[in-house]
Amino acid sequence: MLQIQDIAKQEGQTVTLNGWVESKRTGGKVAFVTLRDGSGFVECIFSLESVGEETLENAKRLTQESSVQITGKVVLNEKQEFGTEIHATGLKIYQIAAEYPISRKEHGVDFLMNNRHLWLRSRRQWAVLRIRNRVKFAIHQFFQENGFVQTDAPLLTGNACEGTTTLFETEYYEKDVAYLSQSGQLYAEAIAMALGKVYTFGPTFRAERSSTPRHLSEFWMIEPEMAFYDLEMDMELIEAFVKYIVNAVYADCKTELAILERDTILFENINKPFPRITYSDAVKIIQGKMTWNGRNAIDTLRTQLAKVEADLQAKNAEIAETENLLEKGGISKGQVNYFQNKIDRLKVEARKLEDKSKEIPEWIEASLSFPDGEDFGSPQEKALTSLFDTPVMVYKWPRAIKAFYMKRYKDDPEFVKGVDLLAPEGFGEIVGGSERETDLQILVDAINHHNLPMEAFEWYLDLRRFGSVPHAGFGLGFERVVMWLTGVSHIRETIPFPRYYGRLFP
Ligand code: ATP
Ligand code: MN
Repeated sequence: MLQIQDIAKQEGQTVTLNGWVESKRTGGKVAFVTLRDGSGFVECIFSLESVGEETLENAKRLTQESSVQITGKVVLNEKQEFGTEIHATGLKIYQIAAEYPISRKEHGVDFLMNNRHLWLRSRRQWAVLRIRNRVKFAIHQFFQENGFVQTDAPLLTGNACEGTTTLFETEYYEKDVAYLSQSGQLYAEAIAMALGKVYTFGPTFRAERSSTPRHLSEFWMIEPEMAFYDLEMDMELIEAFVKYIVNAVYADCKTELAILERDTILFENINKPFPRITYSDAVKIIQGKMTWNGRNAIDTLRTQLAKVEADLQAKNAEIAETENLLEKGGISKGQVNYFQNKIDRLKVEARKLEDKSKEIPEWIEASLSFPDGEDFGSPQEKALTSLFDTPVMVYKWPRAIKAFYMKRYKDDPEFVKGVDLLAPEGFGEIVGGSERETDLQILVDAINHHNLPMEAFEWYLDLRRFGSVPHAGFGLGFERVVMWLTGVSHIRETIPFPRYYGRLFP
């Protein structure tokens, strides 16, 4: 079966396509039907001349999302969005769709989420899911090309990996409780001792009891684990890996990125080295007390704020101007529609700018007053990453805020060999990794210190008893990466059926 994505190669041929009606315009002797089949979009032109009265009438009856089979000739036409059109000769109707709830006008997010099963068909959602697919494939390509073995950690576990606050609990037969996995890392460490370089790629469950635009309750994580790697090698790998994914998406997803109107500056900068900053320096930068390449993070946020405020003013002026044109009247019905749509669109943009103009001062405030020793929240990540146009690595973290298994610095034991990768443009943390502690006694102390049940970790401690070696790994949040590369403002759009605080349906 021919897919729309392949029709350009069939120029001049008559082809048959199956799909759904994305939209339709009609004139007296003609109907223009935009067909989508999951692989792409193409305008199909039904003219009275070519199809006759009956088929033209049928084409005119088509409603949004009706399912059809269209036969016609492939014609190249530069003026078309995707370079081709179909001069239809035949039409078979599978079903005339009932009135479709999702139209071109703005819908509220709740409405769209309740209709997620239909919303998936919209162009933007289509583009996001296609990019998700490309990222997933790139992940496997990268690791398979670099000597890694893909493996799997259990999803039902008998104990928590890093603490219990965000665990989902379930019954395990009559007597036992099981937890849904929050990370496969400890298991990956065991498997790495058997297979050397491994990665898992599976679902992860965290009860994040607040709604943020970056946290799902069920998300996918890639967790490589490498025997004989130290923190330095881990950071090298993270950088090469992220560059590989981003380059793959840029090379193969031009159409999708265009539909999403994704600013491509990120892709153009990705091959530059990622800066590496210690946590302690990052804190000073966030507080505005240290500059990086002569730039101050707080000043940078203030400049951003000024720009947002100016943009907002310009938007509001444009809205007022367009409203004036409407009020004056004396314009055609088509123009009224056009102006009304334009106003709706501008208002959405203005609202976003307005939200931003309120957020940035909060980020500045929370950064200036940030206490050394705490974990970064979103405001601090925004402040720090405002200085960079590539992802940035923050390493050497205070032991107190990181997981028990991270290796301590010998000469600075209050710090551990952990690293976080923060995406540019404020998309936040996408990778958390570390070199793992190898010293049995230090691990035992850490498990006690974190009040974790020792008996549950005996198997893990065996890895330090039998051929313990330096090793390291990281976890990359799959949806965080998709969010960053697609530029969507909420992580719920990066997975077909998202699960997050307050949502379990559809
Ligand atoms: P954050 O501080 O952003 O909540 P974390 O420190 O809890 O993240 P890790 O435990 O290091 O994250 O998990 C590894 C990666 O998994 C993170 O870098 C992030 O990309 C992703 N991640 C973590 N929690 C979530 C979540 N609730 N939804 C989606 N992705 C997540
Ligand atoms: Mn978290």
